[in-house]
Amino acid sequence: MLKENLDNVLENINKACEKAGRKPEDVTLIAVSKTKPLSDIEELITYGIKEYGENKVQELCDKYEAVSTKVNWHLIGHLQTNKVKYIVDKAYLIHSVDSIHLAQEIEKQAAKKDVACDILIQVNIAHEETKFGIDETNIYEILDTVKDFEHIRVRGLMTIAPFVDNPEDNRGYFRKMHQLLLDIKSKNIDNVDMSILSMGMTNDYMVAIEEGATMVRVGTGIFGERNYNI
Ligand SMILES: *Cc1c(COP(=O)(O)O)cnc(C)c1O
Repeated sequence: MLKENLDNVLENINKACEKAGRKPEDVTLIAVSKTKPLSDIEELITYGIKEYGENKVQELCDKYEAVSTKVNWHLIGHLQTNKVKYIVDKAYLIHSVDSIHLAQEIEKQAAKKDVACDILIQVNIAHEETKFGIDETNIYEILDTVKDFEHIRVRGLMTIAPFVDNPEDNRGYFRKMHQLLLDIKSKNIDNVDMSILSMGMTNDYMVAIEEGATMVRVGTGIFGERNYNI
């Protein structure tokens, strides 16, 4: 089942790229493995998948230790400042930086471990009260702080679009994110390279790719439905 699902997702990525005149190699698929067993990850590794997304620090650390091959772990869920110390040297990329306070803590812990930490700024582009992420009008405030940090590199932006039945309803949000990325890029801020745009989940990754996503985070589409009660 995993192989079929994966092939289907990869085919959809190709289709979306073709439609948008983009190259499939410019889009990175992150397999969102939260709640899923290590055996699923090990199987996907044999199909060549090297990028995995987790939304909880503890689960990411456990899987990081247990997996048989080196893969890249993406922290995609909300990060509390008191957990930063567990993750700075394990996360390949932290997608969910949403405050100056959190960025400061990442800088501090990364300095302690003498590592450089790649991060994305999470933007709440639809201004949903239930979602984390900063308002786009506040983004320059964060970037202005981070530009002087020595252990953080801002690689781009991330968003979680609203849950909608029709993915077309999110197109406008994805477009706004891409525009924001280009605006920031044009300002050439120190420490900020804006090469990554992480957006699109099982329901809407094709639309996200058409609008410029360079990373899509797909869970259900690869692993099937999640069961949070186990
Ligand atoms: C769970 C999760 C995903 C994947 O969601 P699916 O709808 O299962 O593809 C993507 N991004 C974040 C931040 C998530 O928490």
